[in-house]
Amino acid sequence: MSGLESKSILVVGAGAFGLSTALHLAQAGYSNITVLDKGSQVPSPYSAANDINKILRAEYEDPFYTDLTKKAFDAWKTPLFAPHFRQTGFLHCVSGEAPERAVATLNRFRAAAEQDAELRKQIVPINGKDDILATAWQYREGPLTGWHGYLNRYDGYAHSGNALIAVFQACVALGVRFLLGEKGDVTEITYSGTATNKRATGVKTRAGHRHTGDLVIVAAGAAAGRLVPELGQQVVAKSWSAAHVKLTDAEAAALRGIPVTYARDLGFFFEPEPGTNLLKVCPMGGGYINTDPRTGVSHAPATADESRFMPAEDEKRCRKLLAHTLPSLAERPLINKTLCWFADTSDSDFIVDYVPGTTGRSLVLLSGDSGHGFKMFPIVGEWVKSLLQAKDGKQSVERWRWKQPVPKEDSGKGNWGDNVSWRLGNTEEFESVRPPPKGKL
Ligand SMILES: Cc1cc2nc3c(=O)[nH]c(=O)nc-3n(C[C@H](O)[C@H](O)[C@H](O)COP(=O)(O)OP(=O)(O)OC[C@H]3O[C@@H](n4cnc5c(N)ncnc54)[C@H](O)[C@@H]3O)c2cc1C
Repeated sequence: MSGLESKSILVVGAGAFGLSTALHLAQAGYSNITVLDKGSQVPSPYSAANDINKILRAEYEDPFYTDLTKKAFDAWKTPLFAPHFRQTGFLHCVSGEAPERAVATLNRFRAAAEQDAELRKQIVPINGKDDILATAWQYREGPLTGWHGYLNRYDGYAHSGNALIAVFQACVALGVRFLLGEKGDVTEITYSGTATNKRATGVKTRAGHRHTGDLVIVAAGAAAGRLVPELGQQVVAKSWSAAHVKLTDAEAAALRGIPVTYARDLGFFFEPEPGTNLLKVCPMGGGYINTDPRTGVSHAPATADESRFMPAEDEKRCRKLLAHTLPSLAERPLINKTLCWFADTSDSDFIVDYVPGTTGRSLVLLSGDSGHGFKMFPIVGEWVKSLLQAKDGKQSVERWRWKQPVPKEDSGKGNWGDNVSWRLGNTEEFESVRPPPKGKL
């Protein structure tokens, strides 16, 4: 116990990290928690997890994250989370045209899965179309030329939007207060003290209200840098695109149970969402950043509407993926196109730490999900609890500490995703792909 249980805690952001934090703290007996979110409901349109599915993949090149994911999977199988978890398997391949780098990445993932005793049992080698049809007969019309890789039956996906709603409701039942919409739109953290020796005292909202707290936890996803400018370039707001194909009831029923299907050089899709019959499809690529030329820092655009499109090259890749697998869908309209923003770090490690320069253990930053954080949704809050309860007030997991400043030679590039081995493709500026504003006539 840290003595904070009765003190007031403000959590900024009711996305995956913020909700998980509120849940774990409330379950641990913290009784005065308020969560603020600028979205008027959960899931917020600004949350990267406001989606119909996110991949739950356990194999990482780094066993640290494999072990964590396995822990998270155990939690996904508990009553609160299980209704949103689908262990469909993960068909992880490259097409015959894949560049060497994609093949090498795939091979490293497979090697990582095979090194883990639990995952190894679930790996099925895929060497061509026949092997794919043995697991997903639905792709029999697809040429699947040169596809090879593996199926990991351990993996699957979660319905992220519905999981957020379930945890939101669980938090409400545990007495967590929520301020949503304008009332929860935090414009700044308030402090007492001096610029170099300051204590966080609460937050100010767009509605003009001040809320005081003994502890402020910022879990604002891609928007973290706006509230904690000290972050500078250690977190980059980055986006990837997604779109959907609307299926008929019969088409959706036929695709029920397909594995998450992922070609490292093209993109990936999921089984259709029951009820809406939407099949989500995403291209592979280095993503898009939105760098402020004055500061070199990338922030998500101010409104969600600005991100409702898919860049033309991404659309081509999605159509090619469908042509390889489900050719009857390759020319269908792509709807609900969007760029989804997340908080990227240079090494893909999360940040779960006190903000340096603030005193009294008064300000925690929870960020840097790096586009692979949703799978951890059931357990993220445990990490925050451990930090709050650490006797020395230090993050014991070194890689989750506040990061060193970005070296000068990299300053302003903001495109380090290219250097992380599981990312493929160059990062581009949002400005270079966004559609021109519509005329007023
Ligand atoms: C296209 C895409 C695909 C992804 N695929 C996967 C995947 O397959 N598997 C996986 O594990 N992860 C995936 N992720 C990553 C996953 O979505 C994130 O790791 C996760 O959502 C991070 O949670 P978060 O709480 O940090 O941020 P978010 O979920 O984005 O939540 C941030 C919250 O802060 C709120 N907020 C922002 N600013 C303010 C403010 N000023 N005041 C109040 N509230 C504010 C927002 O409204 C939002 O609700 C993907 C992300 C993207 C973008």
